[in-house]
Amino acid sequence: MTAGPGSGAARGPVAAVPGSARAAALGTALTGLLDRIAAACRAAGRDPAAVRLLPVTKFFPASDIDILYQLGRREFGESREQEAAAKVDELSGLSPIRWHMIGRLQRNKAKSVARWAAVVHSVDSERLATALDQGVSAARDAGHRDAALRVLLQVSLDRDPGRGGVVPTELAALADQVERCENLQLAGLMAIPPLDSEVEAAFARLAGIHARLRAAHPAATELSAGMSGDLEVAIAHGSTCVRVGTALMGARPITSQ
Ligand SMILES: *Cc1c(COP(=O)(O)O)cnc(C)c1O
Repeated sequence: MTAGPGSGAARGPVAAVPGSARAAALGTALTGLLDRIAAACRAAGRDPAAVRLLPVTKFFPASDIDILYQLGRREFGESREQEAAAKVDELSGLSPIRWHMIGRLQRNKAKSVARWAAVVHSVDSERLATALDQGVSAARDAGHRDAALRVLLQVSLDRDPGRGGVVPTELAALADQVERCENLQLAGLMAIPPLDSEVEAAFARLAGIHARLRAAHPAATELSAGMSGDLEVAIAHGSTCVRVGTALMGARPITSQ
């Protein structure tokens, strides 16, 4: 996740885009959200440029992504493979753009994801890493992509296998395996705080896990943590990427993963 144009949280005021009510609403929400991220960075004594906003656009139409693109956003997070692939196709005229896969990923979708994703945040098993490595290799051979796939390891903070993530005790082995994959680049960690836990304690633990990972893998600098409701806490604990849906897009039509 190298910072592309407009990808940092603090890029100054968002330019007004004339047009639809939806464009006005998204512009207002984006400005408010960037202010919120900047305030959280100030409160934590961190440089706002070190925290990236990743708009999460699942369940919202490609036209919304187009509006956010006009507002300067260049990176987008999606969590469902089929929906994402359709949007990537529809928006193929927008360049540069970087797509992040942030949701749970079945191995049989790895080949498709490898065609469109710049970053996958949800790698939690050696089998999935292998499938992605093979998928990227095939996509490179077919001319669908040049770059390696940046990979964040999703770590489970509650040991609930239903929510995804590798348990902390198996993280080191998974990181070593990703390092051995020619087409993958280990970029950092991702986590979703447990539903019933103290968010503060969960993110504090995550920061410790991240520090240990970085000691062994210095390039694994990214920490993808924080969503609409808890981004301030995540930023206080070292998040470099907040994944925000609701606070930017509004309520999703149906509850999602
Ligand atoms: C949907 C989703 C988000 C965004 O959640 P909000 O609470 O709407 O901001 C973040 N991360 C993941 C993995 C998601 O699936």
